[in-house]
Amino acid sequence: SWRYALKNYVTSPETVNDDTVTYFDDKVSIIRDSFPKSECHLLILPRTMQLSRSHPTKMIDAKFKNEFESYVNSAIDHIFRHFQEKFRIKKSDDDKDPCWDDILKDKNKFVRNFVQVGIHSVPSMANLHIHVISKDFHSVRLKNKKHYNSFNTGFFISWDDLPLNGKNLGTDKEIETTYLKEHDLLCCYCQRNFSNKFSLLKKHLELEFNSHFELK
Ligand code: 5GP
Ligand code: ZN
Repeated sequence: SWRYALKNYVTSPETVNDDTVTYFDDKVSIIRDSFPKSECHLLILPRTMQLSRSHPTKMIDAKFKNEFESYVNSAIDHIFRHFQEKFRIKKSDDDKDPCWDDILKDKNKFVRNFVQVGIHSVPSMANLHIHVISKDFHSVRLKNKKHYNSFNTGFFISWDDLPLNGKNLGTDKEIETTYLKEHDLLCCYCQRNFSNKFSLLKKHLELEFNSHFELK
């Protein structure tokens, strides 16, 4: 089934011929998401079968985090370098938001404001994976409300909020209804509420991205 489409990257990343795999060793594969929901969207896949078969909300504990922290950091570095190489921050007189100043020069600031690390509370793919994604949501693959809300509501569980320590999230169905279907679409840059209007949000995200970034 399609739920196992990530399995090859776990068992045999060395046989993958395209540029999907950015790094692998005995412990992990780091791959580019084939349907990236932002400019940069990586997945970290533990290669131990026992971990790969587990549910992330149950499996990721302090020990797991400790073991994979350095891989998270290298995925973040990858994203920072990509942005540094490709983009410049636009300087505009009326932009008073200091959040963008030097964001491509100051890695800590970039990470704090512009990188999201974590898991989906109800993953669609079976092999355990951690998302490391830039927070632009500027991508042709971002095609519906579900895609957007899966990264911009409580459906997404941040690495920093793990482990959950048994906290009850509700059933999969409840989680999906609350966050993917019912939750309003909120712009991740300015918090403007687009209610259910995905195509309006999509146009707005394009404007937001282009108001802050220009190609080098
Ligand atoms: P989930 O919703 O399970 O947390 O995320 C799974 C991710 O895997 C999605 O972002 C999806 O775009 C991505 N994906 C699905 N199939 C493939 C594939 O065959 N190759 C790669 N590299 N990514 C995939
Ligand atoms: Zn906005």
